[in-house]
Amino acid sequence: MELAESLEVKEILRRYREVWALEHALSLMTWDMETYMPEAGFRERGEARAVLRRMIQRTLTSQELKSLVWRAEPRNDFERGVIRVLRREIERLEKLPSEFVEEEAKVATEAYSVWVKAREKSDYKLFSPHLGKVFELAKRKAELLGYEKHPYDPLLDWFEEGFSVADCEKLFSIIGELSELFRKVSERHPREHPLEKEEYDKQRMRELNMRVLEAVGFDFKRGRLDTSPHPVTFGLGLDDVRITTRYHERDFRRSLFAVLHEFGHAAYDMNIDRVLWLTPVQRGASLGTHESQSLFWENVVGRSIAFVEAFYRDMIEYLPFLRSYSIEDIYTYFTLVRPELIRVEADEVQYVLHVYLRYRIEKEILEEKLSVSELPQAWEELMEELIGVKPKSHREGVLQDVHWSQGYVGYFPTYAIGRVLAAQIALSVKDLDEKVRERRFSEVMSYLRERVHRWGAVYPPRELVKLALGEELKPPRLLEYLRLKYL
Ligand code: MG
Repeated sequence: MELAESLEVKEILRRYREVWALEHALSLMTWDMETYMPEAGFRERGEARAVLRRMIQRTLTSQELKSLVWRAEPRNDFERGVIRVLRREIERLEKLPSEFVEEEAKVATEAYSVWVKAREKSDYKLFSPHLGKVFELAKRKAELLGYEKHPYDPLLDWFEEGFSVADCEKLFSIIGELSELFRKVSERHPREHPLEKEEYDKQRMRELNMRVLEAVGFDFKRGRLDTSPHPVTFGLGLDDVRITTRYHERDFRRSLFAVLHEFGHAAYDMNIDRVLWLTPVQRGASLGTHESQSLFWENVVGRSIAFVEAFYRDMIEYLPFLRSYSIEDIYTYFTLVRPELIRVEADEVQYVLHVYLRYRIEKEILEEKLSVSELPQAWEELMEELIGVKPKSHREGVLQDVHWSQGYVGYFPTYAIGRVLAAQIALSVKDLDEKVRERRFSEVMSYLRERVHRWGAVYPPRELVKLALGEELKPPRLLEYLRLKYL
């Protein structure tokens, strides 16, 4: 990859280091908050984070940096990437007045704390006025950001560069067939599996997770594995990437697959080309692209018979109860398909149906076709239509996700993008099963590194996908992948 050639870009990169350092500090603080921070540290940490955020904003929107960015005439792909990413960030920061940003943060903080209680009590009425405010703000945000066709467009683009309602319609054009496929597969699968109930030793489970991580290529000199309530990855830098998982005493696949999922995110962050270090393009191309990497490792690699074969001995060693189960049993347990009410518990066949439901609701609210008070009913009807089950409580329905309470409207479709991309990658890697069975993970990784990871955010996500796979995002590929695996 070519480096910065023009003087302006060199100067921009010099100034950008301040932002990089602040972001580095922010992600370290967030990691700590999710793992080891004492409970009462919350308020001070919140204050400190807000101040750092304002410092980043001040640096990015400073007249000097701004005029450099707008004046620059990029000479190569790297420089074009730097300018594209910075323009996008600066424009966003400038379109949203600071009062709006503050109000957004306030509404989200309150909505989140009410959501926690409302979810516990399964009380939608308690949450609904706050959700109303969240959607009102989303509408205002869309107006502030501006759009040509649909108010949802700028909200989608916020999370996935260049993505619009038109793209979502294409993305979700497979829903009918997917729903059909899900019905067919789930009819053949049992509703329960004895392995879900087997109790494991948490310490031994952690050791198994470490063993698997080492085998797939996680570099412990450049990363850590910790525990947190919600598994997550923090890419602090190229040489400091931290992942987390959780340990319930039963159903060991949940801990293992969280590890593989976060490993996929971590591998992306660790494999970005070193020449992009400390620059605005030292990051994944988009949320959808990032999620494709985590899902590739979790679903494509992890939920395969080849993976069970490769790690059967290790699994037995750390989880002795597995001795009475065969490789086939474990594979069945890993790939169980049955109607689920909860998105995060959903298998890979039905997952996108859950995402589509949320997309439909967000879009209809923005179009003023649906009101917040009608939301639970719309939810139930869509669940019934798509997955064939109805939530018995709001807790397992409309109150299950954290996203809306945090003000994230337009986020969900990135999960579907990641799913489709992961399927496209699965279909494009040669002899994947053989490589997994023989633990030749470095060969799989070098494929991903060359095509996806190393480029960071140099190219916008759409372009990167074309470069990496020789085709665009192709939703029918998900059906193809699922049919091959499950039929
Ligand atoms: Mg993820």
